[in-house]
Amino acid sequence: MRSATSKPISCPQCQGTTFTRKTTTYPMRLPDGRQVHVGRVAVQECTHCHHLIPTKAGSEKISRAMAAVAQLFLGS
Ligand SMILES: [Zn+2]
Repeated sequence: MRSATSKPISCPQCQGTTFTRKTTTYPMRLPDGRQVHVGRVAVQECTHCHHLIPTKAGSEKISRAMAAVAQLFLGS
């Protein structure tokens, strides 16, 4: 039995399939066009073009940050 829990990903920019796992500051674009940086997000970096793809944990962190930022905007 094979488990296919982690399917291979490919880079949306260059279709590369080799990635380096790292933790980095991820630039997040807000709906109003502003850009904020989320610190220490787990990503896979394309070794070819250096495009950053958040891991599952990384995108969860970005979602939480996005929700926090949205609350700030709503509260002001
Ligand atoms: Zn790439």
